[in-house]
Amino acid sequence: MREVCICGRYGDVEDRDPVPGPVGDIGLKCPNCDHIDDLGWLAAREQAAIWAEVRRRYEANAKLVLRT
Ligand SMILES: [Zn+2]
Repeated sequence: MREVCICGRYGDVEDRDPVPGPVGDIGLKCPNCDHIDDLGWLAAREQAAIWAEVRRRYEANAKLVLRT
């Protein structure tokens, strides 16, 4: 899902970095300005779909790092 951050960054919300909290991830951090979005503006079903994609991309990146 494409979004525009408060800093003007335009890109996939799924490319933000997950921010770990005490009970699971609490939000997604913008790589430009560190603004944390808790996805509260989305319906629960849409939030779940985005989190699933975030985890998929995060794990794909982790595998790339391991390979090098
Ligand atoms: Zn930003």
